[in-house]
Amino acid sequence: MPGIAYLAVMLGVIALIAILVVPSLFLKKCSKCGIRNSLDARICSGCGERFPEDA
Ligand SMILES: [Zn+2]
Repeated sequence: MPGIAYLAVMLGVIALIAILVVPSLFLKKCSKCGIRNSLDARICSGCGERFPEDA
């Protein structure tokens, strides 16, 4: 059934994109050292760099 194979491939691609995109929605990456911190972090847990205040 080619339809099912196509569906399986599409679901795989969507899952892969979700895995890549979702963490960046909940974590912010330090521009200095690249470590990911929680969205409410005021300073980087890796290098101590201050994050710009958005709010
Ligand atoms: Zn950092």
